[in-house]
Amino acid sequence: MTLRLAERWFERRSLDDGITLLWEPHVIPLMRCNIWHVRGRDRDLMVDTGMGVVSLRDATKDLIDKPVTAAATHSHADHVGGHHEFEDCLIHRLEAANLAKPNQDGSLYTSAFAPSVLRYLNAAGYEVPADAPLITALPHWGYDPGAYELKGATATRIVDEGDVVDLGDRRFEVLHLPGHSPGSIGLWEAESGILFSGDCVYDGPLLDGFSHSSITDYVASMKRLRDLPVRVVHAGHDPSFGRARLVSLIDDYLAKQEP
Ligand SMILES: [Zn+2]
Ligand SMILES: [Zn+2]
Repeated sequence: MTLRLAERWFERRSLDDGITLLWEPHVIPLMRCNIWHVRGRDRDLMVDTGMGVVSLRDATKDLIDKPVTAAATHSHADHVGGHHEFEDCLIHRLEAANLAKPNQDGSLYTSAFAPSVLRYLNAAGYEVPADAPLITALPHWGYDPGAYELKGATATRIVDEGDVVDLGDRRFEVLHLPGHSPGSIGLWEAESGILFSGDCVYDGPLLDGFSHSSITDYVASMKRLRDLPVRVVHAGHDPSFGRARLVSLIDDYLAKQEP
């Protein structure tokens, strides 16, 4: 398959509350994660970093004029590809080892997924052909998708439930939300009602069937989020939503587990 040339790799949109959303339009939907830049007084926060096909650091130079903490909601390949470019990396203790030494082989081809994983993803609602690139355009001429590797990053801050990420004028509390993966976290700003939910909840097919997933944990995490006085959820994938949509996504998930 011949891939065309991307006009630019990252798209972005400025939102309220000092937040900028970045994404990689030429990555297939399954792997296209939301990257969130949050402006703080003393420090900025980057929630997840995408695939690492192209430098996120370079692409966000104009946004960043102070130290940045790159938080990982979890260590899946689509969320941590750019962490190695940031000197301050934050992740839950259960996924720090995977951030340092990713156990996915980091291929840009679906042929790297085990057949059982491919079947699972397709059954869950993602269209993932058996041998296709994860990108639909090249970042520059001569780019070789076969040479892609997911680079490891060292966690400089290992977090757990209740820890606080302090940007000077904004405070995000770490919520441990296991289920999708063991060390999945949310970042909760109580003052504004903003939740960065990672892959615990987003407005698309939720995934609780990986070998490291736990449905029991997922159910508990969802019940917990149902009680949170959320105003807006900025999730790991798909568009943001408010509390009513959060509750309906949670109830749909719980209904499937507890018929
Ligand atoms: Zn994930
Ligand atoms: Zn994801």
